[in-house]
Amino acid sequence: MPNTKKLIYSFGNRKADGHARMQELLGGKGAGLHEMTRIGIPVPPGFTITTEVCKYYYDHHRRYPKELKTQVIAGLARMEKILGRRFGEGENPLLVSVRSGARESMPGMMDTVLNLGLNDQTVQGLISRTNNRHFAFDSYRRFIQMYADVVLGINHKAQGGRDPLETLLEHKKNARGARVDGDLTAADLEQLVAEYKAEIKSICGKEFPEDPFDQFWGAIGAVFGSWNNDRAVAYRDLYRIPHTWGTAVNVQAMVFGNLGDNCATGVAFTRDPASGEKRFYGEFLINAQGEDVVAGIRTPKPIAELGQTMPKAERELQRVCRSLEKHYRDMQDVEFTIEDGKLWMLQTRTGKRTGFAAVRIAVDMVEERIIDKKEALLRIEPDQLNQLLRPIFDQNGKEQAHKDGRLLGNGLPAGPGAATGRIVFHADDAVEWKKRGERVILCRVETSPDDIRGMDAAQGILTARGGMTSHAALVARQMGKVCVAGCEVLHIDYSGRTLRVDQSELKEGDWISIDGSTGQVFEGEIQTLPSEVLQVLLSGSLDAKKSRLYQQFAKLMKWADDARRLGVRTNADQPDQAAIAKAFGSEGIGLCRTEHMFFQGDRIQAVREMILADDEAGRRRALAKLLPMQKQDFKGILEIMGDLPVTIRTLDPPLHEFLPKHDNEVVELAQAMGVSFEVLRDKVTVLQEFNPMLGHRGCRLGISYPEITEMQAQAIFEAACELRREGKNPFPEIMIPLVGSRQELHEQNVIVRRVAAATQTAYGVKVRYLVGTMIELPRACMVADEIADEAEFFSFGTNDLTQTCLGLSRDDAGKFLPTYVLNGLFPEDPFVSIDREGVGALMRIAVAKGRKKRKNLEMGICGEHGGDAKSVAFCHQIGLDYVSCSPYRVAIAKLAAAQAALREKDRC
Ligand code: PEP
Ligand code: MG
Repeated sequence: MPNTKKLIYSFGNRKADGHARMQELLGGKGAGLHEMTRIGIPVPPGFTITTEVCKYYYDHHRRYPKELKTQVIAGLARMEKILGRRFGEGENPLLVSVRSGARESMPGMMDTVLNLGLNDQTVQGLISRTNNRHFAFDSYRRFIQMYADVVLGINHKAQGGRDPLETLLEHKKNARGARVDGDLTAADLEQLVAEYKAEIKSICGKEFPEDPFDQFWGAIGAVFGSWNNDRAVAYRDLYRIPHTWGTAVNVQAMVFGNLGDNCATGVAFTRDPASGEKRFYGEFLINAQGEDVVAGIRTPKPIAELGQTMPKAERELQRVCRSLEKHYRDMQDVEFTIEDGKLWMLQTRTGKRTGFAAVRIAVDMVEERIIDKKEALLRIEPDQLNQLLRPIFDQNGKEQAHKDGRLLGNGLPAGPGAATGRIVFHADDAVEWKKRGERVILCRVETSPDDIRGMDAAQGILTARGGMTSHAALVARQMGKVCVAGCEVLHIDYSGRTLRVDQSELKEGDWISIDGSTGQVFEGEIQTLPSEVLQVLLSGSLDAKKSRLYQQFAKLMKWADDARRLGVRTNADQPDQAAIAKAFGSEGIGLCRTEHMFFQGDRIQAVREMILADDEAGRRRALAKLLPMQKQDFKGILEIMGDLPVTIRTLDPPLHEFLPKHDNEVVELAQAMGVSFEVLRDKVTVLQEFNPMLGHRGCRLGISYPEITEMQAQAIFEAACELRREGKNPFPEIMIPLVGSRQELHEQNVIVRRVAAATQTAYGVKVRYLVGTMIELPRACMVADEIADEAEFFSFGTNDLTQTCLGLSRDDAGKFLPTYVLNGLFPEDPFVSIDREGVGALMRIAVAKGRKKRKNLEMGICGEHGGDAKSVAFCHQIGLDYVSCSPYRVAIAKLAAAQAALREKDRC
């Protein structure tokens, strides 16, 4: 690191070295503090140690750059000058907080130390400054406890489940008959400080550090160290935050929300983070320190009540929040402290929100002329739209539950949606039960950052304590989980694994239902209904005009449609799926897998006859039975899709997939088919392959047995011709799978076109159609120009292309891929998000070669990646015409396509 490198950035007194766009270097919290200071918002002075220092710290065996010390001393001196106090001085001491602050917020995952700088001398200075001995010793005892936990590692985990300092506090309370901490006298607290120090000495073998500079460097090291604690690492894994980013550290002058009853601390959102409603929203605790609110230990009061006790501060808070939202042009999540009636802001950041809130805030802000449509589209994470399609409780089911007396209580509606599941009390159990296929609700007194994986595994989260901004609520919203927080009537007994409300007792494994939109908690299971969006779009059971949610969703989709260039089609195999796709605004079917039709009803019988037939004549007889059924399916889909394209793929999987595998099934089938067990078993054995994914499948089937392709083409064209005769305008695109050479496609193309011509002649109508291929093999990409001679369209089958490019079996990779991703060998699962360097490079080659040969070659993607937002952006970049995804991901793909187009414009 060069000598001149700036390692700390100061802020205070309306001047700041940093600003809002420096999140990378200063972390989110740091950047917010600097920006607020710049725009004249009351912020206690301080400085930010950059994320670069954190990186240095980890790269150099936990040592700091040598210039840091001088810069930190200069930073402290600036704070001292602004405040007229001195760090470590007995008379008028400067106390500081030392907080983590990564580029992306990681709520509660890393450590913080408050009240730093207190020792036996400075506590006296604090007493004379505040004239409040109780407060000073309470702060001192809190500081020692926090420092012991965070810096010295003395906590319940390290000490076998019992926190020694917490135990001393409990003893003291019992001895004094104190109900809450606040009932202890100043003398009690002073004694407690001495007892804490003695205990620490007996555990660590050395004194608690009295020198404020020793305390300071201890805290800095601990905060940097907490970047790599287990829960922070787990959180980053979950949210794919790079482990290399590091955290910044914010050192800031303390302001006290626990100085008395004209003091408070709280958090607020400029709009409701759960629903998105435009209302000032927040919670506070009188006479408390910041950590008490988020920790969910005391349930805070709604912000509306702040005006009753501190009207001036409340007005000021509202004013500051309004100006912050205006300045950032987005919903803000703030932390504040009121000391002696004066408001101080400790944090502002763009507030995390549910999918519901994301849509509502974006659309409302366009209507309020705060942002334009483009910004609205760019602000929503495409995957968040999933939440809008989640089930809600059936109103009748809920009413019945009420009548049956199954309403257990009401909590706070912290994460919207309906969730029903079996009760578990521990995060590890949630993970285990989910693995067994159970739906669970994680029920906790309150959650902590250690519960993150269990929260992820659960259908929903229910807590007995904590507010709308408690850990459970924040994290649930971020995950898009259903959450009811602070349902205070619940008595949870972890050791007995029970949950009691008055006389009712529920045990682990019992069913419970939580409504995260209303906060209600019910015993037992309640039926769910499709979301409002689905009720409007699919069942028509809700009038669009009556659903604000639907209207806003529709508005957003319209904006996305106007902005995007990529088409969005759907993978659908049946008429009902096609209808869903159409309702979501799909612009065609991008993949109809015909083999799925083979499994329905008694068709499988005819399929098996076809496979078992000894010769072509036998196969044709069986195929003739399948023909009318396939034709019916195709007709249904083509009819629903009107004149939109419907891409129908000829048979793809190896034939053994249609035959039974186990002896008992073979016996049963042999009897039903009137063949001997041996004949059938031999056939199954003959068809078995060592590596079926690379075996007799795809177009290789149609080439070995042209009569299969012939039958399928006939079914498609008869269906289309019948619709033509009915005055409709169907548009089938016949797609040949797993092609690796021009000749393969040619052979299939000849069959399809011959059947098409004959069928059209027989019906006396003309049908619009295309014949094309899937691009699923690296070879197909490399000879795409030759293949384009035969193909009118390409559709990238990126499931197989990923498998064949990376040499990763689709069926077996699950055993090791998660470890690969976890250890960073793959940045992401390549079956989820396109591997741009490998698979993506092949796609680029195919696009270029294909278009060079045939200018108007239509190109799309129908692998699972077609519904993945990042892959959609890539498809846009390489110039595909459309993506095709499952019906329920159409909205996501549309938004991702719009974002890709808008970002491209920005770059131009
Ligand atoms: C593909 O390989 O991407 C594809 C869509 O085909 P399937 O998943 O049916 O093999
Ligand atoms: Mg495939």
